[in-house]
Amino acid sequence: MTATTILDRTPASTDSPPGESLIGLARPALAERLAELGVPERQHRMRVSQLWGWMYVRGAAGFETMTDVAKELRGRLAERFTLARPAIVSEQVSVDGTRKWLLRLDDGKEVETVYIPEEDRGTLCISSQVGCTLNCTFCHTGTQALVRNLTAGEIIGQIMLARDRIGDWPGASPDDPTGLPNSERKITNVVLMGMGEPLYNFDSVREACAVAADGDGLSISKRRITLSTSGIVPEIPRWGEEAGTMLAISLHAVRDDLRDVLVPINKKWPIAELLEACRNYPGLSNAKRITFEYVMLKDVNDSIDDAKALVRLLAKIPAKINLIPFNPWPGAPYECSDWEQIEKFAEVVNRAGYASPVRSPRGRDIMAACGQLKSASQKQRASTRLAAPA
Ligand code: SAH
Ligand code: SF4
Repeated sequence: MTATTILDRTPASTDSPPGESLIGLARPALAERLAELGVPERQHRMRVSQLWGWMYVRGAAGFETMTDVAKELRGRLAERFTLARPAIVSEQVSVDGTRKWLLRLDDGKEVETVYIPEEDRGTLCISSQVGCTLNCTFCHTGTQALVRNLTAGEIIGQIMLARDRIGDWPGASPDDPTGLPNSERKITNVVLMGMGEPLYNFDSVREACAVAADGDGLSISKRRITLSTSGIVPEIPRWGEEAGTMLAISLHAVRDDLRDVLVPINKKWPIAELLEACRNYPGLSNAKRITFEYVMLKDVNDSIDDAKALVRLLAKIPAKINLIPFNPWPGAPYECSDWEQIEKFAEVVNRAGYASPVRSPRGRDIMAACGQLKSASQKQRASTRLAAPA
């Protein structure tokens, strides 16, 4: 990469208005909110559909535009509720068009969301937790101390906000068109590969995926939503049955002794158990494969023997292999494998029948690549607050 332009454009208003945001609530929960406002039960279905369309098809950010909802009801809705998304602390746009947003949640905690445009598609990488309780040794997020689960609203809020910012609603246009795809919709895929271990926040992530996949709303099909897990084995079959999205597994090593170090949850659920859960994942076929992610760490897991062992290990599973060049972060104890070695490794994988296995790093100039996310400003601000007089 040559010149690096980093735009740090923080939109003016970042504080969310008071009132509960309706974003992310399932239809029955929305109906309950309407009941609280005194809307008669016989109208619930119709009113929920109206709200749903305004929120998720048109991207309404307030109630006043909802012209087919009676003015009086719009007023009552606005008194109690909002359609607020998480507040934007900063927005960075990489030279390659990748965007990274640092978001502030209602309790002041912060998470990051990344948008990766390609020519004919756009992938949104969303977070499921503030930080992560696991401590994978190559991952920046794992070094963040403060952790909590996101609510379904905070997860869906990331999609809403990204669509706001890239002008991905009917009739809208982006502030900054850098690198946006030609596709009609700018977000075609969603990956749960941001901060956090999504299977440790099972219920909220499942609720959010159901809202995202709803065909009368955001309409991002489950085939275009991928959950990435470090290997929370008992939750994998349940996720398959209850949510049924695509699955990605952070494998990263072919031997337990090494995986125990890189992905310490392996000590609890070793490789054999993980792969057994993968083999049994519902609906697998050559058209619906599990993605195995493998971070390339110099002289750690990148030998040709490792590559051969990897293809042997996955031989009986409908699989894709995704080699991720290690993305460095300040103080990281690893280096990325040499490009030559990645190519040799990829060739072994390629010859075994796996197409284009190397994931090209995106947004490295704004620290938006896999595993680089960590909301550092949260800590800075926390310490500023502590130092400030009461
Ligand atoms: N917690 C989940 C999802 C988030 S991480 C998981 O671990 O699967 C998304 C992917 O980025 C995972 O495969 C993760 O192992 C990988 N990753 C983490 N740190 C990385 C780094 N520094 N460079 C490249 N990939 C990294
Ligand atoms: Fe958590 Fe995934 Fe990072 Fe491991 S790689 S620390 S599971 S976010």
